[in-house]
Amino acid sequence: MFVDITYFTEKLSSIFSELDSAYQALAEKYNGFSCSGCDDLCCSSVFLHFTLVEHFFLLEGFRSLPEEKRKEIIERSREYNLAYSKTSRPEVNLKLLCPLNYDNLCILYRYRPLGCRFYGLPGFMESPVKGRQEFKGCWRFEKIHGPSPEVKLDRTPFYRKVADLEKELRDRLRYYQRYKKTVAQMILDETNPDALVMRGYDIFEGY
Ligand code: SF4
Repeated sequence: MFVDITYFTEKLSSIFSELDSAYQALAEKYNGFSCSGCDDLCCSSVFLHFTLVEHFFLLEGFRSLPEEKRKEIIERSREYNLAYSKTSRPEVNLKLLCPLNYDNLCILYRYRPLGCRFYGLPGFMESPVKGRQEFKGCWRFEKIHGPSPEVKLDRTPFYRKVADLEKELRDRLRYYQRYKKTVAQMILDETNPDALVMRGYDIFEGY
């Protein structure tokens, strides 16, 4: 079986470009709100990611890094994952810099997952199951613009497009297990030949 993973990562890249444009357009309405000058280090919050397609896209970026940098990030990911696994309710209790963050910048910014892209501006999503869900702006946004912003980013079309793409990918790979990982865990899969997502790449490479 041959599954061309790049078909999926290119589509994801295009969805992310649309999202980045929508995010930027809304940021302009808030006086060009940006991360510039913020020392909050939101990349120390624990973000969990839920799709294989984001995983493949992030690893595409990771594989483009020089070997020495990849080794360093794998080591950082091990340390991160150790702390993560030893912390009770890490989403709430762990503050630790993401292994991809260097000098307050994401080394794989172009490839970062959905959760990292949405972070900052307030948003909402209309879910057919859970109804309307609201997402607060980050700490700095609320400090500048207050807790009740008038305009919010509609995340619905982006979640929907990523979910549709994920379904298409999983159907092709026949992979239906639950997926929930930190960036560190995604990176560590690069070192695990038994990881199912690695097998996805094997398929891509035509083995
Ligand atoms: S992937 Fe990049 S943007 Fe997301 S938490 Fe890590 S360093 Fe920050």
